Amino acid sequence: MIVIKLGGAVGIDYASCCKNISYLVKEGFKVVVVHGGSDIANNLGEQLGVPPVYITSTSGVTSRYTNSDSLDILNLAMKGRLNPLIVEQLLKYEVKAIGLSGIDGMLIQAQKKSAIKAVFNGKTQIIRDDLTGKITKINSELITMLLDLGYIPVISPPAYDPNYGAINVDADRTAAAIAQAINAECLLLMSNIPGLMTDCNDVESIIHYFTHHDIEKNMKYAKGRMKLKLIASAEAFLNQHLKKVIIADGRQYDAIQKALNGQGTIIE
Ligand code: ADP
Repeated sequence: MIVIKLGGAVGIDYASCCKNISYLVKEGFKVVVVHGGSDIANNLGEQLGVPPVYITSTSGVTSRYTNSDSLDILNLAMKGRLNPLIVEQLLKYEVKAIGLSGIDGMLIQAQKKSAIKAVFNGKTQIIRDDLTGKITKINSELITMLLDLGYIPVISPPAYDPNYGAINVDADRTAAAIAQAINAECLLLMSNIPGLMTDCNDVESIIHYFTHHDIEKNMKYAKGRMKLKLIASAEAFLNQHLKKVIIADGRQYDAIQKALNGQGTIIE
């Protein structure tokens, strides 16, 4: 089983990624697609007067500050725009795709963080009203049932917290949690960068390979949201069925095929 996370940043070639996914499905692989929606959510937020606000935790991890208005925007962007776009592309390639958000059938359960210590408006503050959380459980029976029936689930945040309802969770960590829960062999994180680079501004500085024992060692190169991709990778490797994580560039034609043929950063 392969879990493929399609990033939500500018330039991802969703059509070509979906075509590559259709080849994998035809070859007999069971594929779960997970997606974010950062770029679409940002644009939609600007259009609707709810521009995005980012906070940076004291450990340097950047995340979206989510209140009920920005959660609405995320829902509209993911469930309303990007999810149907991906499902539609997959259907076009005769893949039986089914779009689901994390709250459908309690697919992704999470617990809202009670407080986050973060830099907000230039000051370190304790933020208590942020509607984001940590994933606690994946409804793997639902995913496996759909896969067994030949459906390809296309999944996005938000997740469901029994005490708060819908809350935002990170899409990379969602993909990792799903990979872990369904015993996937491979996790692909398709993004808007060639892979993990020692210098963000130099594509030649890409690190092609390291083992999961060295994720922590390579964390020093990751800034902002790349940190979450490495944290997610480490979480996915908690299940020994996982053989590799690939962080690769989703902006190019045949991106998934190229990633599976050795492009990007491979973690084994
Ligand atoms: P996605 O929407 O695909 O999940 P993100 O914006 O969350 O993408 O994460 C990818 C971003 O991480 C890149 O756009 C890049 O600016 C940033 N980044 C930070 N450190 C690194 C690094 N060492 N190598 C590559 N990208 C990095």
